[in-house]
Amino acid sequence: MREEIKPDVRAFVKAHGRPPGLGIVLVGDDPASHVYVRNKLKAAEDVGFYADCTRLAASSTLDDVLREVDRLNKSEQHDGILVQSPLPKSMGPGAAQKVFDTIAVGKDVDGFAAESVGLLVQNRPQLVACTPAGVIEMLVREKIPMAGTRAVVLGRSDIVGKPMALLLLHKDATVTICHSRTPDLAATCREADILVAAVGRPGFVTPEFVKPGATVIDVGINEVTDPAVATALFPEGHARLGMFKTKGTMLVGDVHPSVDQVAGALTPVPRGVGPLTITMLMKNTLKAAQMSVQAR
Ligand code: NAP
Repeated sequence: MREEIKPDVRAFVKAHGRPPGLGIVLVGDDPASHVYVRNKLKAAEDVGFYADCTRLAASSTLDDVLREVDRLNKSEQHDGILVQSPLPKSMGPGAAQKVFDTIAVGKDVDGFAAESVGLLVQNRPQLVACTPAGVIEMLVREKIPMAGTRAVVLGRSDIVGKPMALLLLHKDATVTICHSRTPDLAATCREADILVAAVGRPGFVTPEFVKPGATVIDVGINEVTDPAVATALFPEGHARLGMFKTKGTMLVGDVHPSVDQVAGALTPVPRGVGPLTITMLMKNTLKAAQMSVQAR
């Protein structure tokens, strides 16, 4: 998909004398956020975008972030704006949404602003949250039917679960959203032809959650450091357990590896949805750039 973007980027540069531009704002010292931002900048450079990152100290105020967003909103060099979450807790509970809502809708390449979400609800999306949009793209490319199927989304976050459910609904699936108060979770998930797990718990989805032959999408990215959790996921002698013993840490999804035996298709973690999300960010930035020149 990244290779597919490159000719369009070259055509954009030729037509408009500049590359599509992505502005990232990173606040604080969260190590995972630094890794994510580094990967996003690398991907942007790889497809031929202009991309930069403004790094703000963890002690910055919400106003500092909003000022930075305002600057990027006005910038002609930046077509897409992304504020990496989480923001420091000191900014208060509603800070992230306030920041997202300040991003101009045409530059909202994360698709988290209230206006972007509203447009998605009404099935006239502009820029859609990258992770769920990527899942749909993958299902389409793998020719996995959605219309008329039963889909279950496990997790109801604003950034994954809810937009995921809406996108599946717009593809004519019959969608159930599950969360921590859902009774008979495994039985409900077992009804799914397409099961999307976005829970944030390592190996939470076990084979009893999965209808034989179902498509299982593992959105989870969880760092495991507890040897007991690692050995519950991988049997003695497994290569990944061996690597865990050497490094003391590993990344796993929300789906237990043994689901492989039941599912018709299963996305891997690492790889899978993670890099796909970054690729969708590139697609969204290109789309934002194309929308911006059309609007002039
Ligand atoms: P989140 O905001 O923490 O939401 C988790 C959801 O799971 C909530 O709706 C929660 O229910 C539900 N949940 C938690 N424990 C549960 C349980 N025991 N039974 C049933 N439901 C339960 O997480 P998120 O931001 O959506 O992320 C989910 C996972 O995806 C994380 O591992 C995250 O790192 C990963 N992620 C990956 C990407 C990517 O690029 N691949 C992007 C974003 C996120 P309640 O609402 O009832 O609390």
